[in-house]
Amino acid sequence: MISIAIDGPAGAGKSSLARAAARELGFCYVDTGALYRTIALHLLRQQVDVEQCADWDAVLKDLKVSIGFVDGTQHVYLNGEDVSELIRTPEVSMMASASSAKPPVRAFLLEMQRQLSREQNVLMDGRDIGTVVLPDATVKIFLTASPQVRAKRRYQELIEKGQQVSYEDVYNDLIQRDYQDSHREIAPLKPAEDSAIVDTSDLSLEDSLALLLKTIRERMDRA
Ligand code: C5P
Repeated sequence: MISIAIDGPAGAGKSSLARAAARELGFCYVDTGALYRTIALHLLRQQVDVEQCADWDAVLKDLKVSIGFVDGTQHVYLNGEDVSELIRTPEVSMMASASSAKPPVRAFLLEMQRQLSREQNVLMDGRDIGTVVLPDATVKIFLTASPQVRAKRRYQELIEKGQQVSYEDVYNDLIQRDYQDSHREIAPLKPAEDSAIVDTSDLSLEDSLALLLKTIRERMDRA
């Protein structure tokens, strides 16, 4: 099986670019952030204080996170409920970032992600795919952009979905998530040593996709 790992900070355009690249290459696209978001939604609903939680086994015991593909689009399920849309809120983003720093939460999802890569050719996006989940991935990409550009893109995305947010809040949330994601003890966000860095700060979506595909194809030819 061929696996492509795409890691990078929030708002680097990972999901739209990774989805488009996977379609172009005929690979199954797996958005691992959606899995962490699904757990986060569960924690919010259960009103779990992640910083004080002493019994993760109890919190995660009855939790079932699953993934399905409807017309090639990934859906995520929380105990059977399709929560694919409900997980796209700033509140869930912050909870996903806080809870994903907890080792039991990461352990809960690790095998599931690896199993997906054994079943089919995958293009998987996340924060630790090239470093932890699939250290032997065929191609590793670190997709990034400046914080200002990422916040602007995320802001526009949320506004288009009809959510009431301010640019300042989106920017501040993003900086806080970057910090949390890259400073946690377990599986911090960082480029794998053998990854190709793709910076999309000055590129349109179209040009970013072209650069991403060119980089992936060059690396696949070399592998
Ligand atoms: O990619 P997305 O922004 O949807 O991810 C939400 C959060 O889930 C991230 O801020 C990060 O804390 C966490 N995450 C992670 N490891 C991954 C994917 C996401 O820790 N592989």
